[in-house]
Amino acid sequence: MNGREWGSRYADALMNTFGAPQLVLVEGSGARVTDADGREYLDLLGGIAVNLLGQAHPAVVRAVSDQAGRLGHVSNFFATPPQVALGEHLLRIVEPGGAPGGSRVFLTNSGTESNECALKMVRAHANALTAGDGRPRPRILALEHAFHGRSTGALALTWKQAYRAPFEPLMPGVEFIPVGDIAALEQAMGEDVAGVFVEPVQGEAGVHEVDDDFLLAARRLTRQAGALLVCDEVQCGLGRTGDWMAHHRSGIVPDAVTLAKGLGGGMPIGACIGIGAAGSILGPGMHGTTFGGNPVCAAAANAVLDTVESEGLLDHAERLGRQWRAELRDLDLPGLTEVRGRGLLIGVEFSAPIAPLLVSAGREAGFILNAATPTTLRLAPPLVLTATQARSFTEALPGLVASAQRQEGHR
Ligand SMILES: *Cc1c(COP(=O)(O)O)cnc(C)c1O
Repeated sequence: MNGREWGSRYADALMNTFGAPQLVLVEGSGARVTDADGREYLDLLGGIAVNLLGQAHPAVVRAVSDQAGRLGHVSNFFATPPQVALGEHLLRIVEPGGAPGGSRVFLTNSGTESNECALKMVRAHANALTAGDGRPRPRILALEHAFHGRSTGALALTWKQAYRAPFEPLMPGVEFIPVGDIAALEQAMGEDVAGVFVEPVQGEAGVHEVDDDFLLAARRLTRQAGALLVCDEVQCGLGRTGDWMAHHRSGIVPDAVTLAKGLGGGMPIGACIGIGAAGSILGPGMHGTTFGGNPVCAAAANAVLDTVESEGLLDHAERLGRQWRAELRDLDLPGLTEVRGRGLLIGVEFSAPIAPLLVSAGREAGFILNAATPTTLRLAPPLVLTATQARSFTEALPGLVASAQRQEGHR
């Protein structure tokens, strides 16, 4: 069965929500994947910032097969060792030196579900305060260009009109603040605000860092107002930026941290972590999930976290990212206006909307790339990417840009 045949069967069987698939992929190893026609690619998207250890890492393969051969699913009426170990592990890494006392983890299956859990914490916390003082707290703040997920609650926190419009009316009460605008945040903040959602690095928007001063202001203002501060680390967390969590560098301690993408090494699992007192906002019966914390996914996540530690991948992500960004800048390519990001979450900005053309030129040349916006390439490769692999892309980029610019000129 070749790529074309699989593609046509795909179109007849799967709902057309993602557009036509770019490739049909059949296997991989580390940062390399192979398509149904036997062509190899260097994967610089990593399943959208998911595959921290790349494909088929022996630690993940072993953890998943062992656990599947032992106990596959039991429901949350029961506890399992991998689920407990994962909760403990997340509490050790979510804040430098470990989470403060009272912190607790809710395990989910995806990023959007982690944010739904955080939303319920925000509402429940606000409603408890309102029950005390009679003052309603209906407002929730998020940032312009934010992406928090596609389920309808998380979608209400998501900026992009095209994602929202077909599904309106969405959950009311959400207002968007310009990124980094402390004055606007001060203006919007008040005791009728229940919570503030921030991605410390906005990934889907094209890799834009939210600066530490803004995070510090958000922490100070939410604390004053009695509102919860939620850091959405679904994309930027778990080592991708070179720190376990992207908010660590700012020194803030949020009330909740949401995770997913990188956690399971490709297996679907996420987490919403209530920090300190926020760990006990949700009590018995207030939230649930059938699959969340499934032992096979939890075992995969434990293997990922252990391996990021044992292979020194935080340091590697930080150093390789820094070196790679410098090498990309040093190309001094006409039309390449900025290389930004942290660790192995990198945005390469162009003056013209050539990113989609670069994605197709890259594919022809054996690279899996992603256009986060029409002018931005987003690089979010596995953290096991080698310096040689990164350099092979840097060396190919001038040719890809020349070819994209030629095509852009012909349009
Ligand atoms: C991808 C992403 C989500 C949504 O995660 P899903 O697993 O696709 O539901 C939420 N927030 C951020 C910052 C993301 O990058």
